[in-house]
Amino acid sequence: MPIARRFRVRGVVQGVGFRPHVYRLATELGLAGEVANLGAEVEVLVEGEPAALDEFSRRLALEAPPVAVVEECLASTAEPTGRSGFRIVHSRRTALQLVRVPPDLALCADCAAELTDPADRRYLHPFINCTNCGPRYTIVRGVPYDRPRTSMARFPMCESCRAEYENPTDRRYHAQPVACHWCGPTVRWMCDHGGEAVGPEALTEARMALAAGRIVAVKGIGGFHLACDAANDSAVQRLRARKRREQKPLAVMFRDMAAIERNCVLTDEARRLLTGPEAPIVLAPRAQGAGLSSLVAPDSTSFGALLPYAPIHALLFMNAPYDALVMTSGNLTDEPICTDNDEARVRLAGVADGFLLHDRDILRACDDSVVRPTRVGNMVMRRSRGFVPAPVHLSEDYGEVLAVGGHLKNTFCITSGRNAYLSQHIGDLDDATTLEFFGRQVESLIGLLEVHPRAIACDMHPTYLSTRWAEARAEEQCLPLVHVQHHHAHIAAVLAEHGQDGPVLGIACDGTGYGEDGTVWGCELLLATRGRCERVGHLLQVPLPGGEAAVREPWRMALAWAEAAGVDQPFSAMPHLAHRGDDWEILRAAARAGLNAPVASSAGRLFDAVAAMLGLCEENAYEGQAPMRLEAVAADTAESVAWGIAEGQPLVLDPRPALRSVLDMHQRGAPLDEIAGAFHNGFCSALVSAAVRLCTELSLAAVALSGGTFQNERVLVGCVEGLRSVGIKVYYPIEIPPNDGGLSLGQAVVAACRE
Ligand code: ZN
Ligand code: ZN
Ligand code: FE
Repeated sequence: MPIARRFRVRGVVQGVGFRPHVYRLATELGLAGEVANLGAEVEVLVEGEPAALDEFSRRLALEAPPVAVVEECLASTAEPTGRSGFRIVHSRRTALQLVRVPPDLALCADCAAELTDPADRRYLHPFINCTNCGPRYTIVRGVPYDRPRTSMARFPMCESCRAEYENPTDRRYHAQPVACHWCGPTVRWMCDHGGEAVGPEALTEARMALAAGRIVAVKGIGGFHLACDAANDSAVQRLRARKRREQKPLAVMFRDMAAIERNCVLTDEARRLLTGPEAPIVLAPRAQGAGLSSLVAPDSTSFGALLPYAPIHALLFMNAPYDALVMTSGNLTDEPICTDNDEARVRLAGVADGFLLHDRDILRACDDSVVRPTRVGNMVMRRSRGFVPAPVHLSEDYGEVLAVGGHLKNTFCITSGRNAYLSQHIGDLDDATTLEFFGRQVESLIGLLEVHPRAIACDMHPTYLSTRWAEARAEEQCLPLVHVQHHHAHIAAVLAEHGQDGPVLGIACDGTGYGEDGTVWGCELLLATRGRCERVGHLLQVPLPGGEAAVREPWRMALAWAEAAGVDQPFSAMPHLAHRGDDWEILRAAARAGLNAPVASSAGRLFDAVAAMLGLCEENAYEGQAPMRLEAVAADTAESVAWGIAEGQPLVLDPRPALRSVLDMHQRGAPLDEIAGAFHNGFCSALVSAAVRLCTELSLAAVALSGGTFQNERVLVGCVEGLRSVGIKVYYPIEIPPNDGGLSLGQAVVAACRE
């Protein structure tokens, strides 16, 4: 007797070859029925012999295609209808659909093989893709995700492509961006001297320019890159000067894994990340004798490495003399990434010598993601292309909330049902261009998700552009606006990611966040739940001499902390800062008079101070430079410098004894790597001891860590292992960034809990 069953499959099951898989499996087992795309889920109706149906149930999720993610598969009994054959029903829209547009997927092995096979009809085709790879989020206009609603709509498929697209047994069945030489987009080369070329010649021109040390703007998946030969000092130097990015590390795209292995020390996890469908930039320690220009990442002991993830990238390396290209986002420092051909030609005119363009429009700008593997798990430093718009799963349905994030490394977040959709990296929101870009991306994601937020969340900082934007929008739409304290948002994001309610002891360490008392916070111990928080401890506050200027100039923090620590003769302990003597006298007098010297409990500024004390960095050329240099020199030592802890409410972490030891060691001529290592160890020990005291006092069993300071591997690993060794459960960010890129998720959760 035939029986029937209905399956509802949720997860990443659209545009990833899931329906063809269902079709093949049902056909193989001789089952009848249909599979339909319902937007949020795929519905399968099958009927046939019980044994075959059992086999089908067993293999449905198990044998799903590599990039599909089956999160839930609910089976129920259905009435057999006596139908025959199996078909794939066209996308059906339901009223309440949760959209699952997949993230962009890196070039797969099958397509990579076809790309270099002269017998294949897509030999050297710069847009080759299939259901297992290719652009998704960046080419989608609306939902459901179907070709007419992508930027491929204007390329009618040729007969051969259509046959593949419509054949359920083909690897390209319903691969929306499917294309070939005859029907697909084309590449074009344009250079300043009037040269132009189309198709294969365009790639040849681009390769020749790169080989000659020129800078080429390359249109890829989520935007433009600026590329140059990573082994060529003068090319890298020129790129830095023109892009106005003097010292910040640059990402490097390597020809293949062998080339990465020659330059970086990889763990198995790093290899897995590099070759996975997300294809992020992976931070990996550089190898002995690495052959790249020393200008690529002067402050770091690591390289940000990635593999060619679009066919156009793979073609740039074909028969080329170079093995590694700097691939930095195509913008001037602090501006959003370029996505449009004409826009790029204008904005990058003074930067690139030539342009490798194509005519497949990028509808959503998406920078490369950055992941740093550590001993205690992966740290996502930038969650963007390849990850977005995959949601973070929440343990509760919060309804629809929009959170606008912070100021630096902005992302925003929209919750819907039990999902939180964290946007791609937007950038630092400090000018009109970026704010306008932010606004467009918010509208665009709201449209894609078809949501109507019932509340808006923002930071408490009154002058953040994101806060102002949120205030205006809340007023315009008559929505409640929830101001969320910066460090509470950091901790709430970790709780949300791990499905925890708290209470926990939250340890939030970063550069700057607006505190509830109006002062600058940045090393905070919080008694936190998802909805509430109370400050139960913090770093000793010191004045920031000159306010904002102290953020850019760590030498000011070195002297401010030395003064706080009671160092009488700062310039004999730090002779390298003697030339700042006159400036310091003025600043010190002003600070004493309470002029332009706001107090702060910032971990970032403390790391700045120590870096400057050791002569590693007097002025920050980019955010986080001084701490990065301090981490880079820190030796793996057992030595530590002891802190004080002043009990009280709140408890105060006192680094003054540690700083006196640091200066002492420095004066005695101890090696810098020893001192830096000891400082890192002391910082972690102080946090662990404070956590032990507060957890006991407040009867807490767990700690949650977050904030930009935990991008420092030494700090993250030291705190995680330290807390574990004393039996405290510790939560820290794995899927979302510890820096302000993760803030919007926390804001959304806090606001949702309060509203
Ligand atoms: Zn493929
Ligand atoms: Zn075609
Ligand atoms: Fe922060």
